[in-house]
Amino acid sequence: MVPDLHDLLHSTFGFSDFRGVQRAVVDRVMAGERTLAVMPTGAGKSLCYQLPSVALEGTCVVISPLIALMHDQLRAATAVGIRAATLTSADDNRAETIERFKAGELDLLYVAPERASAGHFRELLARAKVSLFAIDEAHCVSEWGHDFRPDYRLLRPLLDSFPDVPRLALTATADAHTRDDILVQLGIPREGLIVAGFDRPNIRYAISPKANTTQQIADLLREQPGPGIVYVQSRAGTEKLAAQIAATGRPVRAYHAGLEPQIRAANQAAFVASEDMVMVATVAFGMGIDKPDVRFVAHAGLPKSVEAYYQETGRAGRDGEPAVAHMFWGADDFAKARQRLSEVDDVRLPGERARLTALGGLVETAGCRRAVLLRYFGEHPPETCGNCDNCLDAPQSVDATELARKYLSA
Ligand code: ADP
Ligand code: MG
Repeated sequence: MVPDLHDLLHSTFGFSDFRGVQRAVVDRVMAGERTLAVMPTGAGKSLCYQLPSVALEGTCVVISPLIALMHDQLRAATAVGIRAATLTSADDNRAETIERFKAGELDLLYVAPERASAGHFRELLARAKVSLFAIDEAHCVSEWGHDFRPDYRLLRPLLDSFPDVPRLALTATADAHTRDDILVQLGIPREGLIVAGFDRPNIRYAISPKANTTQQIADLLREQPGPGIVYVQSRAGTEKLAAQIAATGRPVRAYHAGLEPQIRAANQAAFVASEDMVMVATVAFGMGIDKPDVRFVAHAGLPKSVEAYYQETGRAGRDGEPAVAHMFWGADDFAKARQRLSEVDDVRLPGERARLTALGGLVETAGCRRAVLLRYFGEHPPETCGNCDNCLDAPQSVDATELARKYLSA
């Protein structure tokens, strides 16, 4: 008998409820369907295959691109009592793992894509019982994505040799092109696409054309006393703006990849500990930083893409309290972005162009910013959110819209 999933969620993982679309994803997996789950970082993608791995008979084989990532997952799974192992070049207990796998003693087996696509691995799978294929970081299969991994392309024949085993692809980063490509590359039907959980309702979005950026940032800082991040496009720009902010008496640090590692670490630590510090940084800052009370994220210039914008603004308000994301963009930003497009190779050009157009759509819209953002990620949000500049205050400056249109089409 199949155990009650809710009971299992509680007894194995200690969670009281499914979050967001987890239940919908798990139900499809349990029904033997093929699914692509697009959920933001931190939404709980792992649970979507870990829970079925415990509920189903046999082993869930997880394809994951990074050994370090696999070992983190292994630790977490083992800690809650899931029978898990990794099969990578870094493991010297491979023979033992293979025996456990064949004997049906594993719930989860993590493997790297290059191993998964090797011929002898297919034979191994044929001699064990596979309950589910989970393809983590599935955007790696697409040339449209940011992290194309040729090895991921070799997964399809492997998956197809086990047509009755359900497959679950998971990713946080997928614009429409990448998503469609993942479906095709991994043989998942369109109805198997589940996207959700991208909304960050406590973040208030605002986007303005640049005028005097230093002044605009100074005005923003005056309204925002808590800790915050200002993203700047150049390393020199971070130090210059940090000096200007320091002159106003506000605690401030700079962060970019050109600083000495000890200085970077010290500045980051100071920011994480502070209740009112401004971090002026390039996009090198933010990955893996856990500071729940960031009250604002400002962009002094256009971010690289809608996805980058979402990631970067998403560092604000993780504690659920109100937070602000304010972007200042200029014509020069679009000119530079178009310049970069001219250097992109033919394979990536349509994707890159679509990404820039989407960014243009976000800055030029007179409608709800949140709706544009969420639609970009494939959700179906309401027309208005009541918590962005355009919803709170109908745009007075028709100029901004026309400017953006002009720069995009030029
Ligand atoms: P993702 O891979 O989507 O970035 P993870 O799978 O690493 O996210 O999960 C992020 C965090 O959320 C983990 O600490 C996990 O234990 C927690 N989590 C997942 N599902 C639930 C849930 N239903 N209730 C509470 N916490 C959850
Ligand atoms: Mg994950």
